[in-house]
Amino acid sequence: MISFINVSYAYPNGTSALHNVSFHIDKGEFVFLVGPSGAGKSSVLKLIFREIVANSGQVLVLQRNLCRLRRKEIPYLRRQIGVVYQDFRLLPEKTAAENVAFALEVIEASSSEIKRQVPRVLGIVGLKGKEDRFPHQLSGGEQQRVAMARALVNNPPLLVCDEPTGNLDPNTSWQIMCLLERINQLGTTVLIATHDKEIVNRMGRRVLELNNGVLVRDDHKGAYTHEA
Ligand code: ADP
Repeated sequence: MISFINVSYAYPNGTSALHNVSFHIDKGEFVFLVGPSGAGKSSVLKLIFREIVANSGQVLVLQRNLCRLRRKEIPYLRRQIGVVYQDFRLLPEKTAAENVAFALEVIEASSSEIKRQVPRVLGIVGLKGKEDRFPHQLSGGEQQRVAMARALVNNPPLLVCDEPTGNLDPNTSWQIMCLLERINQLGTTVLIATHDKEIVNRMGRRVLELNNGVLVRDDHKGAYTHEA
């Protein structure tokens, strides 16, 4: 699903972000990407979306070599990757259902497909009955559920989350993680960049740890820190 092979990246201003990073994530895995601020987590995610291109090494995502991907192929890659952000990024003038539908409208799905898929995915994230609420009428956890529904509505094989619980209290964060685990059980590969030590320790799933752009740990039954 994702392979990094000796990947290095420096930003155009010369800041080195990743150094010789290698890992593989198989289809169906649930993986945390951890490390302090500045460790390189966002740079890994940007390489996966092909927002940036490795200076050296290989990045393979969904059977594509991203170093060789042509510009016109980028939208097709991104359609196959659902993304969830810390700040939800919902459209404030649209209801929960309209926010989710919009993700299908932009890829020109038929109206019958939209009618079928939107309730299905809002049901998966536990928002049945709240379809017509606007973002400001929903709690933070509910807004993140809408964002997850939007990310999943066209059935991407891969879901990438960038600090998905960064704006949520511990209890709500735990519920969102349980939902991500359920989505993973339904067949989606899940990669989560996070600072949230407590959750990573409690989940006991695979942990990739970056420090100063170097992959310092790949633990298959991980905790955030060794001493935890
Ligand atoms: P994290 O997501 O773990 O906080 P990042 O991948 O954002 O880490 O950053 C890795 C390194 O790259 C840091 O030293 C950061 O300052 C630097 N960096 C991130 N984005 C840019 C950018 N657009 N231009 C220059 N340097 C950047």
